[in-house]
Amino acid sequence: MHIDILTLFPEMFEGVLRSSILKRAGENGAFTHRFINFRDYTTNKHNKVDDYPYGGGAGLVLTPQPMFDAMEAINPDKEARVILMCPQGEPLTQRKAEELSEENHLVFLCGHYEGYDERIREHLVTDEISIGDYVLTGGELPAMVTMDAVVRLLPGVLGNEQSAPEDSFSNGLLEHPHYTRPQNFRGMEVPEVLTSGNHAKIDEWRRKESLKRTAARRPDLLDKVELSDNEKALIEEWKKS
Ligand code: SAM
Repeated sequence: MHIDILTLFPEMFEGVLRSSILKRAGENGAFTHRFINFRDYTTNKHNKVDDYPYGGGAGLVLTPQPMFDAMEAINPDKEARVILMCPQGEPLTQRKAEELSEENHLVFLCGHYEGYDERIREHLVTDEISIGDYVLTGGELPAMVTMDAVVRLLPGVLGNEQSAPEDSFSNGLLEHPHYTRPQNFRGMEVPEVLTSGNHAKIDEWRRKESLKRTAARRPDLLDKVELSDNEKALIEEWKKS
């Protein structure tokens, strides 16, 4: 996968791309990335990339010319998925990250200031993604969040120590609780089943805990998951108690 990031602030990405799993994924060639500072494409003699909004009002709006020219240079065949980071976009979900992880070429457009000229949204973009119902200063943090969610799903990125299919949301549920050594920490014991060596029982416990946690914290997720009759009955019982 190749990822192009159109941003006025490429330095913001340094810590994220130079640490942990994303760093290793880059070094192992699971993905390559490139920053495009779209200010480099402006034809404005003062190097400006923004201007006052037509109709008046507060804030500055990113002008179309630098982004159009940058996109024509990096995506001439229009084969890439072009993702506009935008609080008005589709909410980022694990499903969306899985879908994007199948692509060869992603482009992230990071806005700033009041937002973009609407023609950028209408003519350059294939997807609009929001990372939540709040407004951030710019699209850089949302692009980093989206990149992290996507890159960790690329083949070979997660080692045995971490497995994406068992993560929360992958099977539609929140993941079960985890415990590690010591078995007894200050009198707090690990659930006995986890040290029993009985893998069928452990799987059963994990599924039940995962359901219990989802029912308590995110009952909305249960509507989209296939449940056995036993599981449905259990959930009804938990609701009553
Ligand atoms: N005026 C815009 C509005 O009300 O929808 C908000 C602009 S915001 C200050 C500047 C930029 O930050 C946006 O263009 C977008 O790139 C990014 N941004 C802010 N919040 C975001 C979010 N929740 N998800 C994705 N991108 C976001």
